Amino acid sequence: MYARVIIDIAHANVDRLFTYEIPEGLAVQAGHRVVVPFGAGNRKTEGFVLALSTETDVDWLALKPVLRTMEPYPALTEEQIALAHWMAEAYHCLLVDALRLLIPAQMRGGRVKEKTVRTVRLRPGADADAEKAALLTKAGVSRAPKQAEVIDLLGQTGTYMSTADICAFIPGAAGAIAALLKKGVLQEEGQETFRDPFRAAEAAPPGEPLPLTPAQQAAFDGIVACVKRGAGTCLLYGVTGSGKTEVYMQSIAHVIAEGGKAIVLVPEISLTPQAMERFRSRFGMRVAVLHSRLSPGERYDEWRRIRLGKVDVVIGARSAVFAPLTGLKLIIVDEEHEPSYHSETAPRYGAAEVAAKRAKLNGAVLVLGSATPSVATYKRGLSGAYQLLTLPERINRQPMPEVQIVDLRSEFLSGNNSIFSAPLHSALGQCLKAGEQAILFMNRRGYSTFVCCRGCGYVMKCPDCDVSMTYHKLEGVMKCHYCGRMACIPSVCPDCGKPYLKYFGVGTQQVEEQLAAYFPGTSAVRMDLDTTRTKNAHQELLSRFMRAEAQVLIGTQMIAKGLDIPNVTLVGVIAADSMLHIPDYRSGERTFQLLTQVAGRAGRADKPGHVIVQTYTPEHPVIGFAARHDYPGFYAYEIAMRRAALFPPYALFLRIVLSGPVEEPLAADAERCAAGLRQAIETALAGAGANPQELLFLEAAPAPVKRREGQYRYQVLAKLARTKHTAAAIRAAYAFHDAQRHVGMSDIEINPGNMF
Ligand code: ADP
Ligand code: ZN
Repeated sequence: MYARVIIDIAHANVDRLFTYEIPEGLAVQAGHRVVVPFGAGNRKTEGFVLALSTETDVDWLALKPVLRTMEPYPALTEEQIALAHWMAEAYHCLLVDALRLLIPAQMRGGRVKEKTVRTVRLRPGADADAEKAALLTKAGVSRAPKQAEVIDLLGQTGTYMSTADICAFIPGAAGAIAALLKKGVLQEEGQETFRDPFRAAEAAPPGEPLPLTPAQQAAFDGIVACVKRGAGTCLLYGVTGSGKTEVYMQSIAHVIAEGGKAIVLVPEISLTPQAMERFRSRFGMRVAVLHSRLSPGERYDEWRRIRLGKVDVVIGARSAVFAPLTGLKLIIVDEEHEPSYHSETAPRYGAAEVAAKRAKLNGAVLVLGSATPSVATYKRGLSGAYQLLTLPERINRQPMPEVQIVDLRSEFLSGNNSIFSAPLHSALGQCLKAGEQAILFMNRRGYSTFVCCRGCGYVMKCPDCDVSMTYHKLEGVMKCHYCGRMACIPSVCPDCGKPYLKYFGVGTQQVEEQLAAYFPGTSAVRMDLDTTRTKNAHQELLSRFMRAEAQVLIGTQMIAKGLDIPNVTLVGVIAADSMLHIPDYRSGERTFQLLTQVAGRAGRADKPGHVIVQTYTPEHPVIGFAARHDYPGFYAYEIAMRRAALFPPYALFLRIVLSGPVEEPLAADAERCAAGLRQAIETALAGAGANPQELLFLEAAPAPVKRREGQYRYQVLAKLARTKHTAAAIRAAYAFHDAQRHVGMSDIEINPGNMF
């Protein structure tokens, strides 16, 4: 037998199958990771066996053997091998890069190991009573009462126990165990264990399924019908607080009862202990979690529990879509509109897209859930490509929170210079007086967005990046939010020397300071990138607020998701415009999503919620739709704009970024790249008999952030109409890029996550 092996080296020259002989007595299957001799020096190299074959055209003299397997079981399932082949094709990446996504990174090179604990038991054949008697003095007093207790305990359990478990029953028993081992009364063995990322949380009371509301029941029935057919994609559009999670959990329970398994994807930021608790209490130990806070050991153990069939449900962030479950029958992507489901590094996969492929390979059902579906997804729901399931109301018919729009222009004209408008100021005062909690949302960290000289117009910019630096008052420095560089605060303008420097714009630190100034004695927590850098900071700050140790939570978009805090009755959005004018065709969609999510944090229990949105453009339709909780209205407006302007989903963007230390040759490079790309795409379109106008736009230009960390950046941006010829044009672009590839040229990005 021969193994067809992909070597674990990411290089285009070796990204193909090599044949190795499987020596007698070595059990190797497709999916095994193996060590093989590779290259001229026969270096021991890791690889993935993707197939077996009974014949080979390699000369037997040149044939080398598989040296060993890395794990006793195949690390990859048959389905995952098929998935990797598909990804290499769909995302134009190396096969080995696709394969690497399928296992925990630390498994490569054997950097994580199974953990064993020391366990002991009574020597087989030993008589507990006789051994205890041997400990007694002539007078019948035990010389070693601890040892006697250990013998008793092990006699009762009759099996292996870990030292830690014994000491939980008999404090300080370690010495007694050692003595008994020495005497041969006990026997020792190492036992494989799985590190449990839930740890102390396991005491969660079992959660019972709730009786579904009629709308939930209809959604559940729709999903179950698809599960029966073993095919289909459902879009579960349900307003915030409409009970989507309950529908997910009951659908999963149904699938498990039928012998199937499920994956639930949620955005990293909403993988809070509370959210995981809900699943753990419903499904017990048959749940695995995968998120970025796991240690490599915990991640490896969760992966192994999944691979070895010990779990029915996997809940995790983006990469959990690759979880090695067999018998997959349901994949849920919650908050499907979240940009974080798209990988920003190669392979640039979209988790929902991979989920759709896995669903197909498994005969499983894909459920996309959101209160604010992306316009592309909702379009498919309306057209019938996806089955649209709707939860139009909050649970218990709780009203949506009342949203009040405040015009900051008139506030300014009436002489209010603070960042709290009069309505927000009075609402905050009432909320605090009533002992309730408030959330203040500010989409920018730091204190002021930029420092500008009112005398000469000088703006302090990062010397390495083409962006203004942000003033951080607490630390007393200027920071670049692109590269992290810090600089001192100038006391006079470095350009004209006059003391006219003024701080413009608002950040989270300034909100915190003004809160303290206007409402002295109010306790607040601030959550942004600066306060949540350490491992558990995010969770600790959040729990402080949840335990009501702070009355106000101030934060960036990281607070917008998944919080369910009953005592929050007021949400204030300090500046709704900050995201509306970002130069990206999705800025309207992102603003609507963010405002809806933030507003959804208010009034989740029996108290009504109040939301105040401050803005300089109260007449903007997107802000109006968000204030009225009108997603269908927003969708109709947005899709009409996209159609008129030919933006996705009616078109797609294709981008190559070029970067280098000197601007002029880079600009020339970008022009050459654009010309070559244009020719490649035009030729492909002509060959497919397409209208040349399908290439809507193609241009080389400086990137919106032209300099970053000392490197100049130019981009070649193409826009293609979405037609049946698009795939041919993309293939041509990839072929052109493969032939061109040189230092400083990025991959091809299709509909890049941000346009900067
Ligand atoms: P969503 O995910 O749509 O924002 P959740 O699933 O978090 O909503 O549900 C909101 C609240 O309603 C939760 O506290 C949940 O326990 C409760 N809930 C959900 N379904 C029901 C039901 N059928 N009966 C009673 N309470 C429910
Ligand atoms: Zn910088």
